[in-house]
Amino acid sequence: MSFKSLGLSQPILKAVEKKGYETPSPIQVKAIPPILAGSDILASAQTGTGKTAGFTLPILHYLSENQSQNYRPIRALILTPTRELAAQVYANVKEYSEFLNIRSTVIFGGVNQRPQVAQLKKGIDILVATPGRLIDLESQGVLSLKHVEVLVLDEADRMLDMGFLRDIERIMTLMPRKRQNLMFSATFSKDIKKLAYSILHNPVQVEA
Ligand code: AMP
Repeated sequence: MSFKSLGLSQPILKAVEKKGYETPSPIQVKAIPPILAGSDILASAQTGTGKTAGFTLPILHYLSENQSQNYRPIRALILTPTRELAAQVYANVKEYSEFLNIRSTVIFGGVNQRPQVAQLKKGIDILVATPGRLIDLESQGVLSLKHVEVLVLDEADRMLDMGFLRDIERIMTLMPRKRQNLMFSATFSKDIKKLAYSILHNPVQVEA
């Protein structure tokens, strides 16, 4: 199996090659085709499996192949439980989108919001965020989620452990109902299954 045979575009293959990846990891082989096909995904994957590229590469493919000319709303939202993970995912998004005309940024709490607001004002295609700061900036009118087409819940189990259920539920009400949902979790408790059931539509189940 190769990245090329997964159907990813040339600029993405170039970025993957630059990272030194030779073959897609198992989670990438299993998750990328259904994501490209527009399905919702429920993925069981730990950190270290290559899950970040597993969701980021097909999102980049979709966004770059379906791009509007000038109006740039947030079209993909990646929610993570911690600022460390947010920063790490964002660094990956940046690298994988190096050869595309895609803008991304990251927002999280615990730091001054001003630089984040300045980034958002430039027009952003992909936003990586932790729940609290996202809700904060949305309620200030700094960003809108009304045009989100793809949502990723990364490390969903940790988000619940950290008490973000209410925030996640609130964030769901800020996005269009019709969108693609990708949920990644290392564990599957009753609460995670309940959350998956409430968010995902006919998800394809994927295991790393
Ligand atoms: P993740 O599970 O997304 O945190 O990724 C774990 C590590 O694997 C990161 O350092 C990635 O850069 C790396 N990685 C992701 N996909 C591949 C791949 N197909 N081949 C080699 N390394 C990869």
